[in-house]
Amino acid sequence: MTEKIPANNTWQTAVTQLDSVSKLMMLSEDVHQLLRNFERILTVSIPIRMDNGSLRIFNGFRVQHNSARGPYKGGVRYHPELTLDDLKALAMEMTWKCSLAGVPFGGAKGGIICNPKTLSKSEIERLTRRYTYAIMPIIGIEKDIPAPDVNTNEQIMAWMMDTYSMNNGYCTPGIVTGKPVNIGGSLGRTDATGLGITFALANAVKSRKMDFKGLKVAIQGYGNVGSTVGKLLGEMGCKIVAVSSSKGGVYNSRGLSHTALMKHYKEHGSFEEFPHAENITNEALLELPCDVLIPAALANQITKENAAKIKAKLIVEGANGPTTLEADQILAERKIPVVPDILANAGGVIVSYFEWVQDVQCYFWCETEVNMRLENLLNRSYEEVFSLSHERKVNLRTAALILAVKKVVDAIQVRGLYP
Ligand code: GLU
Repeated sequence: MTEKIPANNTWQTAVTQLDSVSKLMMLSEDVHQLLRNFERILTVSIPIRMDNGSLRIFNGFRVQHNSARGPYKGGVRYHPELTLDDLKALAMEMTWKCSLAGVPFGGAKGGIICNPKTLSKSEIERLTRRYTYAIMPIIGIEKDIPAPDVNTNEQIMAWMMDTYSMNNGYCTPGIVTGKPVNIGGSLGRTDATGLGITFALANAVKSRKMDFKGLKVAIQGYGNVGSTVGKLLGEMGCKIVAVSSSKGGVYNSRGLSHTALMKHYKEHGSFEEFPHAENITNEALLELPCDVLIPAALANQITKENAAKIKAKLIVEGANGPTTLEADQILAERKIPVVPDILANAGGVIVSYFEWVQDVQCYFWCETEVNMRLENLLNRSYEEVFSLSHERKVNLRTAALILAVKKVVDAIQVRGLYP
């Protein structure tokens, strides 16, 4: 029996997308049901001694969607509004992302319901260590390899790696990716998601015969990923006309300086009142006149309410799941191409794979080699998606999903059913 899913959530979106490509691919109902379901979902409670001496119990999860193509892989997210449905959608998306990129991993995602902005550094450390301990039975170098995601970073990965290693009895760098370089992290991992987005954008611009120089770009979410994209695109001659944080953003049609934006944010904790720019809301940013829109914040930002008002000629999804199903439909009718998340933001997990390979071999590459391999993989993925979308006359998201799902299905079929 298929479970009942509440309308309009990220899991609903992920599963509806899977249902429609399964139909297009004429998958058998057996395989379709296998893909719709999860191999394992672990819920853990995480008791933490707070700095003031009180005890607080947090809830955490690790969701493992599919391991037909390799060990589970996916980030760990800390967010006050995190739900199990979000993690299910994100874990399934990781299965497709790894498959599309051709990296030999399955999909997983984890997280803790918490607001890290209200926790001290030592509370976050205790939370991370106890969460790692709680999920230890189901993670491992060849089992499931966590990584950073929203509100988690390389310091948190270092604590996860240390906790796992201490319990394991020996140093185990390959247990997580996205860790600091001096304990087995990969050069290039910090910028990998942002760099990958610029490669995806360059491909999309080329295939639409647009001119890269002077492109006006609006970026929603100028955090880890968005700000790297802004920095790189600025260096490549694009004009960043709008950026935002969760508190709101700023707009100037003549362009904003990345360095000045970062300085302003550091001093004020927001982009508001940035000199020579207009303050805007996160919603208004999406509807600004620009050539390229990069939603790089959270899910469900482009909706049926604003999709008709978007003026960008091209959308590149930096965040996971920023476009709802209805919005996707409206954008397709308006012939605004959307480079989907599983293609556009795959740079992070691709370099995570490189990091894991380097850890397993204890042999490390230079940054040029990492970036070159990343570019090759992403260009190949883009070409495959682009030509399938032409061949089957479907949008880029559907083409990407067909390619990704096919490789997972092939793996399931050749492995067969145990017992
Ligand atoms: N959290 C990132 C993503 O959503 C990276 C995952 C990883 O490196 O495993 O793709």
